[in-house]
Amino acid sequence: MVAKKKITTPNIVLPKPEKVEAWGMNSFSHSPVLRPKTEKEIQDIFLWANTTKTKIALRGGGCSYGDAATNSEGIVLDLSDFNQVLNFDLATGIMTVQSGARIRDLWQTGIEKGYWPPVVSGTMLPTLGGALSMNIHGKNNFQVGTIGEHIKEFTFLTAKGDILKCSPKINSELFYSAISGFGMLGCFLTVQIKMKKIYAGKMRISPVVVKNFDELFTYFEENYKTSDYLVGWIDAFASGKSMGRGQIHKAVNLKEGEDPDYPQNCKLERQHLPSMLFYIIPKKWMWILMKPFSFNLGMRLINFAKYVASILVNHKDYYQGHAEYAFLLDYVPNWKFIYKPGSMIQYQVFLPKDTAKEAMKEIFTLGQKAGIVNYLSVFKKHKPDPFLLTHSLDGFSMAMDFPVTKANKQKLWELCYAMDEVVLRNKGKFYFAKDSTLRNRIMESYFPKENLKKFYAYKKKYDPNQILQTDLYKRIFLTK
Ligand SMILES: Cc1cc2nc3c(=O)[nH]c(=O)nc-3n(C[C@H](O)[C@H](O)[C@H](O)COP(=O)(O)OP(=O)(O)OC[C@H]3O[C@@H](n4cnc5c(N)ncnc54)[C@H](O)[C@@H]3O)c2cc1C
Repeated sequence: MVAKKKITTPNIVLPKPEKVEAWGMNSFSHSPVLRPKTEKEIQDIFLWANTTKTKIALRGGGCSYGDAATNSEGIVLDLSDFNQVLNFDLATGIMTVQSGARIRDLWQTGIEKGYWPPVVSGTMLPTLGGALSMNIHGKNNFQVGTIGEHIKEFTFLTAKGDILKCSPKINSELFYSAISGFGMLGCFLTVQIKMKKIYAGKMRISPVVVKNFDELFTYFEENYKTSDYLVGWIDAFASGKSMGRGQIHKAVNLKEGEDPDYPQNCKLERQHLPSMLFYIIPKKWMWILMKPFSFNLGMRLINFAKYVASILVNHKDYYQGHAEYAFLLDYVPNWKFIYKPGSMIQYQVFLPKDTAKEAMKEIFTLGQKAGIVNYLSVFKKHKPDPFLLTHSLDGFSMAMDFPVTKANKQKLWELCYAMDEVVLRNKGKFYFAKDSTLRNRIMESYFPKENLKKFYAYKKKYDPNQILQTDLYKRIFLTK
């Protein structure tokens, strides 16, 4: 007879609670934070949490704008020290990393060998675990889909403590639900991602001015097939016939042999973001210089000046390094501090292609009428993908940064609720990575019933003690 192995509950000593903040600084929790470095430590914490019924929020780089990785009623498991690049197979382009490795680690390991991550966010600081949980998209979403579509395989620690290998063929139910499952089913351990082959250190960029929403949509429709990346910056202060004006950056990868300086152009030192802006201003000071403009009139002026400046360079193509193009927002570290002593939220809507233009006009008009205009609007094109709770669809998104102050908070939330109704009416979607205001009724209305039913069933199956919870989960899923 084989003796049964006795499972003993590990003894976890909790540190003093610390402030864990949403990226947009609009909410936080005071939580004990554990920072495991090995799979065994993560497994032990899960085992202990199941026995003691402790609630855990998983956290990667903390780059979600709202409360997706904070936990006001439990502990936070910060996975950013579980971050090794384990293997990079140059023949296949498949890189294997621990889930706390960041997008920065992917591109910096790959680029000198001629590889770039297939999907990146506007900042290089998210971890792979966080990126998969939200199933992030890039400026190339319309071409290559979300990050989940480039994952070959991962190992996954379910909340109840099993370690499973998952791929589109093995444990596929978990593969398609853990990716997009916003950290509610378990923890990604190691991840295999297929990197993209590149043949140049730079891309060809075409800056294009559009005078309004009509021109914006027309340009995207006419150009998406010939673009690798497309992104639009929109001036949300413009109204009437100018509503939707802005600048588009189209980027195209160079083909083999087109970059005379390849592979030198792929050297890390040629890709790093410059430490000075305009050659004289240390970029870490930039937010201080921007601060005096962080009120409605100042931002109206900045948006206008940017629009005028973009007319001067209209259609003047240039070449730009991959990192410089992809991580524009990392140029100005701590740019979010311009919102202090207040904070910010991002509100991103995804709308089907047939109704997106009119719905976006309605959304901008609502903000302008309420006197709360967003300071930065970013426009992208998307396509659907097979993940259970994905935010993507066949259409377009607008991501809008709003300042939050004590004086405007209630009015801003009311504006978001009004915009929610426009999105629902147009069969659009929202994105947990960016969210701070969504409510249960809205979430239950926009997700397909069948997908939600499956999600609830998987939550029960893989997390029977409901140990994985975040403030976002409680706000949207547990509060009616
Ligand atoms: C400046 C800026 C630009 C951005 N641009 C884009 C963009 O272009 N496209 C886009 O799609 N997103 C974008 N984002 C959002 C960002 O990519 C997502 O919020 C991403 O999830 C952040 O990853 P993270 O590692 O910081 O995760 P966190 O924010 O710490 O956590 C996100 C979620 O992942 C879960 N999680 C974390 N680690 C694990 C793990 N190992 N296993 C299971 N679950 C885990 C958490 O519980 C949480 O639900 C941007 C964010 C910022 C701040």
